[in-house]
Amino acid sequence: MKKIYLSLILVAFVSLLFVNCESDDEVIEEIEVVVPVDPISLEREEGGQDAINILTEEVYTSLTIELAYLEGNRPQQKSLDSLTVFINKRVNKSGGITYVETVLPSETMPSGVTLPYDKELEIEQQYRTQFRSETNLALWILMVDEVMLNEDGTNDDDTIGFVYSNTGMVLSIPNITSTAEGSPISGYDGVEASTLQHEFCHWLGIFGPRADALHEAGEHEGIGDDGDGTGHCKVPTCLMFYSSNNPLHGGCVSRFQSEFLVELDALCIADLQALGGK
Ligand SMILES: [Zn+2]
Ligand SMILES: [Zn+2]
Repeated sequence: MKKIYLSLILVAFVSLLFVNCESDDEVIEEIEVVVPVDPISLEREEGGQDAINILTEEVYTSLTIELAYLEGNRPQQKSLDSLTVFINKRVNKSGGITYVETVLPSETMPSGVTLPYDKELEIEQQYRTQFRSETNLALWILMVDEVMLNEDGTNDDDTIGFVYSNTGMVLSIPNITSTAEGSPISGYDGVEASTLQHEFCHWLGIFGPRADALHEAGEHEGIGDDGDGTGHCKVPTCLMFYSSNNPLHGGCVSRFQSEFLVELDALCIADLQALGGK
């Protein structure tokens, strides 16, 4: 198993501080200040903000995907293989995809029952080892063996996974299991694989900040009961389809087949291509 290293790499930037000295001559003194930047701060943008960086290779020619999980909670190899196939189909990264695995100590999730709201940020802060470099973009996928909690402290039994930043994703294993149990034709692997791909598409900017310019809400994006855009596709056969009464963004589960499964529809593919994807 991979030993966990806390990244000691600090990116530094230089800023110029102008100090106005109180003298008759109004001398301006320039002092060079080196401010260390926590590398994780670059990974704290809104989900979808790095869509173009992931889809194209104008800046980043390769991807590193760091998987973080407790012993015994590694994602199924089938799910990872299908994720790789999916990424290569839509994303331009001639340098390829590398998986890095970080096994978390058991005290990371001591309750074994529920994951406090926003705890994923803390875990990432402490254990993430991979960050963007000049030509490589790093993504972080955290598997939690717990039901996540809503902001108000109630159980979030429905959310299987979500993208919480431009390069951060979390999946709840108990919710994958319960969703799979509720769907006789999709096993654990099917739900896990589809969720990974669905959430990856949020990183690719589908209905995220980068895609807003491509269409109006309602045109391609579904409209929720509250009248707002759902952030999901309105085409029922699409991987990004959403309906509020289904735990996995709607209806996808009933369509999962044993060999993965749900594709993007033509409109979502067109969105990715408009942002530089394949
Ligand atoms: Zn979604
Ligand atoms: Zn779609």
